[in-house]
Amino acid sequence: MFESLTDKLQGVFKRLRGKSSLSEQDVNDAMREVRLVLLEADVNFKVVKDFTARVRERAVGEQILEGLNAPQQVVKIVSEELTALLGGEQAPLTFSHQSPTVIMLCGLQGAGKTTHAGKLAAMLRKQGRNPMLVAGDIYRPAAIKQLEVVGEQVKTPVFTMGDQTDPAEIAKAAVDKAQRYGNDVVIVDTAGRLQIDEALMDELRRVKAAVRPHEILLVVDAMTGQEAVNVAKGFNDALEIDGVILTKLDGDARGGAALSVKTVVGKPIKFVGVGEKMDALEIFYPDRMVSRILG
Ligand code: GDP
Repeated sequence: MFESLTDKLQGVFKRLRGKSSLSEQDVNDAMREVRLVLLEADVNFKVVKDFTARVRERAVGEQILEGLNAPQQVVKIVSEELTALLGGEQAPLTFSHQSPTVIMLCGLQGAGKTTHAGKLAAMLRKQGRNPMLVAGDIYRPAAIKQLEVVGEQVKTPVFTMGDQTDPAEIAKAAVDKAQRYGNDVVIVDTAGRLQIDEALMDELRRVKAAVRPHEILLVVDAMTGQEAVNVAKGFNDALEIDGVILTKLDGDARGGAALSVKTVVGKPIKFVGVGEKMDALEIFYPDRMVSRILG
């Protein structure tokens, strides 16, 4: 993931590190290059502008330009600012003191909700938890069956009431059942649409009101670039999400969504999806991601 972004940024920094001292002009030139690389990677324009301005200001303001290892220090500032851009600290899931913890997944059709419901269940099981999956998409043909297949793969029970019951009611009944059967996490899969519409948001708000989730995670497709960030903003405005699962980062996603979401939407990326298999889910650590990008 991020190959092109990584290669290009490393190129800029290699040239910078090759210098024995830096002038303000060197920093400006490097930041102009960084700016182009980030824009090419589909990072939101304002995010890029603020980011490079901040790095330039710190590099010049902290008067490191005369120092012997000025180039390294500029790279360090970039690394710190990139980490901050990605959310700083890793943002963990919130678990309820009172079982079950309810996690609601939402997102557009095809973003990867059902797949990630399964991946999340698999990860939680590995942590010794006892999750339950809930089929809350009653519209898409075969959605319930798809979740049942996923549930079987990750050895997790799937709660369904067919496609004739209201999703808010389904979610509520699932939480009741989880309480009785000792499932400590309930993961509610919800319906998606090709784009954000009011009917969908109304339904999701009703599911939210019915079960008061401890976590509302938005599943967004990184391959859609800047659109992923717009989608995240739309869902957050309507639902107040707690975090994002950024999917399909194994594809040729240019990385822009990952680098813009926290700043534009104000909500952290908690997980990234890196493949179709049930174990292709990673907890998102901003600092590790930056180390990977900067090398
Ligand atoms: P939903 O409509 O939001 O429930 O999306 P699905 O879970 O059905 O996923 C849509 C398609 O994306 C499926 O073909 C998945 O296998 C694929 N998919 C989901 N997550 C990932 C991922 O992280 N990487 C890749 N390469 N494919 C993914």
